[in-house]
Amino acid sequence: MSDSLWFDSLTRAQLWRELTEVVEAHLTHVDEQGVAPPLDEAELRALLRPYTFANPRSPHELLRELDQALRRHQVHTAHRRYFGLFNPAPSVMGIAADTLVATLNPQLAAFSHSPLAVAMEHHLIAAFGMRFGLPPERCDGVFTGGGSEANLTAVCVALAHRWPALAERGLRALPADPVCYVSAEAHHSILKAARITGLGTAAVRQVPVDEALRLDLSRLRQLIAEDRAQGRAPFLLVGTVGTTGTGVIDPLPALAEIAAAEQLWFHVDAAWGGAVQLSARWQHLLAGIERADSITFDAHKWLSVPMGAGMLLTRHRAALAQAFALEASYMPKEGDPSAPDPFARSLQWSRRFIGLKVFMTLAATGWGGYARVVDDAVALGDELRRRLRAAGWRLVNETPLPVVCFTRAGEDWSLAQHQALVNAVLRSGAAWISTITTSRGQPAIRAGIANFRTTAEDLDALVTALERAR
Ligand SMILES: *Cc1c(COP(=O)(O)O)cnc(C)c1O
Repeated sequence: MSDSLWFDSLTRAQLWRELTEVVEAHLTHVDEQGVAPPLDEAELRALLRPYTFANPRSPHELLRELDQALRRHQVHTAHRRYFGLFNPAPSVMGIAADTLVATLNPQLAAFSHSPLAVAMEHHLIAAFGMRFGLPPERCDGVFTGGGSEANLTAVCVALAHRWPALAERGLRALPADPVCYVSAEAHHSILKAARITGLGTAAVRQVPVDEALRLDLSRLRQLIAEDRAQGRAPFLLVGTVGTTGTGVIDPLPALAEIAAAEQLWFHVDAAWGGAVQLSARWQHLLAGIERADSITFDAHKWLSVPMGAGMLLTRHRAALAQAFALEASYMPKEGDPSAPDPFARSLQWSRRFIGLKVFMTLAATGWGGYARVVDDAVALGDELRRRLRAAGWRLVNETPLPVVCFTRAGEDWSLAQHQALVNAVLRSGAAWISTITTSRGQPAIRAGIANFRTTAEDLDALVTALERAR
């Protein structure tokens, strides 16, 4: 037995004490440091050089040393003034759940190894499917590492659904070239999925957007008609609910109509925007999502569980098995599984219990807790828009969601000018923001609000930091 993999109970007890101190110190003091420390690659190399792994080190020392080092060298997304991508502070119950998962280490490949864990994930899939309006008797889904894996899963499932022979004979057996349609503002994981599945990126039509940066329906109809005329095989239409860059919601009801008329699989990428469905006040913005064949939703975004926790939901109960089912004689088969084995209906094989951090956080906060998170962030987004306009900024995106893209009113700044200003704000440590160029070519500064810890006071700090940097 290796002592340094298990240690004795006294060493362990001390280590857990130290660990909980580290966790609590971080949660208590995260706002007191700069949001984003400056990048110093020489320092990173110097930090890593002593780690040759030649001699065992004290676990206490390692914990202390690496906690301090990591804190100095990361963007603090849990900081109240991280106005970034959708990486909120991790929920406390999520942190507790992930610790429990690492400790119990249930194997989620096979139902029989971890029946309760698999059943809990099913329970959540059914609960979220219901919230999105998918038919309960047919709704199904899987947990994924994130939205990107969920989108890849959707592409695999849509292909297998349309061409069942594909599993055996591959793309080369198809009678025509498959094509899919996404908005030019969509997340690039769809392009990656096209590469991985062998479709190739040329199979992805990045449909131009209208003035409001939504997928342009007339261009979509035109592209589908052109592809059909050329003998290609349209199979998948992706609508985005909350684009990553600009927070725009594609016109879902119209997309659902087109998908139905053209017999395309209708996938909705709601990676972060899907949380809006949990707010009675704002869920009307997502009308049409209930017509999706599949939905991508990330719990590690607006729902604030630690990374990675994505979901792929579908209204077709047999679809996942059709894409992924196979038999392996070494996989455990005892019992009569009431839930099918995850490994035979998803991309991953051995995998961690992703669902527990979602389950425990949701159970502790309730749907109402999440509705408040969404409502508060939406209100703060409006407030930020108001304050920016008053300070001489012009908004370049149009969305009720809390992603605010802006440029200097009455001026024509280049991307470099926006970036210079952003860099100055980052150097000040006052806030984290970024730049973006819309698919219509407009550069802007982007500030997103996803953190449930952000307040109106933080908006003031951001607007002040922008003024100072200018
Ligand atoms: C973040 C995001 C993704 C990718 O999700 P990951 O969890 O980062 O893999 C996909 N689609 C949209 C709209 C996103 O915002």
